[in-house]
Amino acid sequence: MKPILIIAEVMDGCIRPVTWELIAAARVIRDLIQTNRAGGKRKAAQIAVIVPAQDPVPLAREISSLTKVDVLALKVPTLVAYTSEAYKECLAPLIQELAPSHILVAHTSQGRDFAPGLAIRLNAASISGVNQIRSDGDGLLYSRPGMNNTRNMVLRPEPGFPLVLTLTPGIFLARPCQVKDPGAVMVREISFGPKQPVRMVHQKIARRENEHQALKKAHTIVAAGRGIGERSNLESVARFAKYFSASALGASRPLVDMGWIGYDHQVGITGASVAPRLYIACGISGSSQHLAGMKGSDWVVSINKHPEAPICSHADVCIVADVIDFIRVFLEQEDALQGKI
Ligand SMILES: Cc1cc2nc3c(=O)[nH]c(=O)nc-3n(C[C@H](O)[C@H](O)[C@H](O)COP(=O)(O)OP(=O)(O)OC[C@H]3O[C@@H](n4cnc5c(N)ncnc54)[C@H](O)[C@@H]3O)c2cc1C
Repeated sequence: MKPILIIAEVMDGCIRPVTWELIAAARVIRDLIQTNRAGGKRKAAQIAVIVPAQDPVPLAREISSLTKVDVLALKVPTLVAYTSEAYKECLAPLIQELAPSHILVAHTSQGRDFAPGLAIRLNAASISGVNQIRSDGDGLLYSRPGMNNTRNMVLRPEPGFPLVLTLTPGIFLARPCQVKDPGAVMVREISFGPKQPVRMVHQKIARRENEHQALKKAHTIVAAGRGIGERSNLESVARFAKYFSASALGASRPLVDMGWIGYDHQVGITGASVAPRLYIACGISGSSQHLAGMKGSDWVVSINKHPEAPICSHADVCIVADVIDFIRVFLEQEDALQGKI
């Protein structure tokens, strides 16, 4: 059986936790392949992690002792910092030699950057942003979001090619491993000098210090979701938010992905975790990824035209209405009151 390889994500000299999710996904793939073939009687595919770094051995030991998988510490003295060019240069020859069936990479800014180019070098198939892996009996199927996150696309790779997958974080959750002994740690050193002129030099990674500050300080968050219908309706939601003191405008991820509003406003597992006194969800369905970011709110109000929307089971008050109509009437009433005072 061809092995399943994982490229560990290394940043600031540490293993990023998304690596544990890649290992969990590799186990899912291994089990599906095994049940697909001869009722699981054949030997299972080996799972191995590659850690590319200047000093990878301590990191490789950490992975092998925590996850019990075999780890290949790829010592690259010239790898001062991550660049996609450097990664492709040092990983491609090693992966070709190991001839895996799958190469798993995190769908993070780093993984998204180098994985497609690596696939080209390997003459491999490539699927980005995978959020589900299943078998239909004839082989494995991979799902990924498409069309502005409004559809799930299901893909079946052609056999005979290695497959590079980038996996969406937060989907394949790490599970405790039953195996007692740590995996083996092997070390391989390669020194590469670019054969061609270097096209990109890493400068620095600057942290975004003030990210999500407005959301985190707010006492009330009015958050807009896809249910607001149109980008221009964000203006009404923002005006609605201003009626509450110490308030901020939040949003669900699709609005950020569609470019309607900046990432600084996103609430959820890949956005801000917030805990305001009042959270008003406007046209938000209440996906687990969104709930993860606002579940610490003291009081939740949902405005949704469907009473069975999941957010309603998490809200203290569920207003069943067209959100834009509701806000229009609210603003008219408030304006009228202001005029009378
Ligand atoms: C790895 C991963 C990470 C993610 N991270 C996040 C994250 O951090 N934050 C996040 O928000 N999402 C995240 N998502 C996306 C998440 O899965 C959902 O797709 C998203 O939260 C849905 O956003 P929504 O509720 O605005 O849209 P939808 O699910 O489309 O819901 C729209 C809601 O509006 C209601 N509605 C429609 N029209 C009206 C109207 N006129 N008036 C009132 N109500 C109306 C509908 O009944 C529906 O309930 C993530 C997904 C993945 C896979």
